[in-house]
Amino acid sequence: MRIIIVIILCLFLTDKAHTQNYWQQNADYKINVDLNVKDNTYKGDQEILYKNNSRDTLNKIFFHLYFNAFKVGSDMAVRLENGDDKNKRFDININDLRPEEEGFLNVTNLKQDEIKIETYLSDTILEVILANPLLPGESSIFTMDFNGQVPITIRRAGRDSPMGVKFSMAQWYPKISEYDYEGWNTSPYHGREFHGVWGNFDVTIKIDKDYIVAASGYLQESDPSNFKLGKKFGNKRIWNFVAPKVHDFTWAADPEYIHDIYDGPNGVILNFYYRNDPKIIDNWKTIQPVTAEIMKFFNENIGMYPYKQYSVVQGGDGGMEYSMLTLINDGEDLVPLVSVTSHELAHAWFQGVLATNEMKHYWMDEGSASYFGDLGESHVFNIDFHPFYTRNAYRDYISLAKSGQEMPMTTNANRFKYNRAYEDAAYDKGFVFLSQLKYIIGDKEFIETIKNYFDTYKFTHPLPNDLRRIAEQTSGILLNWYLTDWTNTTNQINYAIDKVEQSSGKSKVTIERIGLMPMPLEILVKYKNGNEEYYYIPISLMRGEKKQPNYAENWIQVKDWSWAHKKYSFEIDSKLESIESIDLNPTGLIADTDSSNDKIIFE
Ligand SMILES: [Zn+2]
Repeated sequence: MRIIIVIILCLFLTDKAHTQNYWQQNADYKINVDLNVKDNTYKGDQEILYKNNSRDTLNKIFFHLYFNAFKVGSDMAVRLENGDDKNKRFDININDLRPEEEGFLNVTNLKQDEIKIETYLSDTILEVILANPLLPGESSIFTMDFNGQVPITIRRAGRDSPMGVKFSMAQWYPKISEYDYEGWNTSPYHGREFHGVWGNFDVTIKIDKDYIVAASGYLQESDPSNFKLGKKFGNKRIWNFVAPKVHDFTWAADPEYIHDIYDGPNGVILNFYYRNDPKIIDNWKTIQPVTAEIMKFFNENIGMYPYKQYSVVQGGDGGMEYSMLTLINDGEDLVPLVSVTSHELAHAWFQGVLATNEMKHYWMDEGSASYFGDLGESHVFNIDFHPFYTRNAYRDYISLAKSGQEMPMTTNANRFKYNRAYEDAAYDKGFVFLSQLKYIIGDKEFIETIKNYFDTYKFTHPLPNDLRRIAEQTSGILLNWYLTDWTNTTNQINYAIDKVEQSSGKSKVTIERIGLMPMPLEILVKYKNGNEEYYYIPISLMRGEKKQPNYAENWIQVKDWSWAHKKYSFEIDSKLESIESIDLNPTGLIADTDSSNDKIIFE
């Protein structure tokens, strides 16, 4: 226990208040839960010490009761049936579930500082009218009992997963909604992602003694003889976990789990929990040093993983990130297992520690985890990141842009017409955001930006604008135009080489901006004698420029392009007949939606 206290203190002391005006709520949970493995029901109680750090008086608070989404007739069930395209993340129609296959979560006996309070349930959201308004800077203790049923595995949580894991307990407890500087986050659960209140968790799990439990946090106690109720419930075992400074608590349990411990970098203990299944054991052993290597790579390229434990747990229905833990439904093939593990581990930084609101700014988590997950994978497989890993993201984004189904990345995750448009925006357009940012500001400045961003915003809820400001401060290049066009609009990048003319011993190149979104250009001119030159055209909105990159031996910066002008010309100090080719996107790092007009090759 003492070790844990020291860790908590260190985490708080190393925090930086990233802006003077920033505030965030705090919720410390103490949860007891008792799971009945025979009928898959659970009951428990929880106490939340909730501190209102906002400047506002709160008359209401809200809880997420996610398991209510797994009931026949739930909003999620209805939305699955009336979507404009199939949500590929679901194999099951919730409205077809039998009563014993459904999930639910009920809260009873809810009290604020020992005063009983009224609640109103709306699908997965419990609205709570406070007995006493919670003033700025004040705290209340909320106590409650709860009971629920674990559904068959649907969207991340449930029992009897596709690979046979008995219990995947994600989003399982009454979880207080986040009230942050963007307001309340009370989005109902339609299967998208999460946003939570920072705090400390102390969770005691009582379950059949044959089960092995994996969980967020640090295992404190699993010995029934030391627990006051151990004798009374002789066939059960008690597991107690403490998770400091997190925004979620997830666990999984299976009687067949093998638990391996691997020493990770910087003293971090890596736990691996997977079923004793001959088809997966070798792969789950192989990923242990691989996970340690990728964690080391992320420590060096993003920032130090700040906890002393991380668990890779077989469970759920895909791969999903939680605080200090991931649930992964994979293992029969090694490459996908490494891919998912690398992606989910990247989320330990981009979501676990940089806790962006995944309902509003999903692309910051999913795009960043896709980008860095692929980087981690390219590192352990020793394959070039670009173009091997970048091309899929660019292809999928461009396909979305041309489909007519695209919506701006500021759209709430629940409000997309097409599921496909959400997926491609979150993962692929989010990936391309970072890739193009690196192109705009330069490799070194990009790495520094990511490190500064992590260091400044760890243990908070950063916004897209926070990343933009760090990138501006690090590079000296203004980026409002980039963030705005890329995320608030569906404006496309499309440049074309309009014409190349001979003019008195020189060559004049004219470029046309066809798309609405601007982008600095690095135009590669190749000569018949083998020479190469890059003509760099910053856009005036940048009010600055990128430094000469390593790949460009000859770098000629020409005048800024002001967006209002659709055409732009520059001169090359050589005769037309000496030029072999001109390419306006030679790095391939601009997501130009029509590449057919990007390059001219002269005979
Ligand atoms: Zn992800």
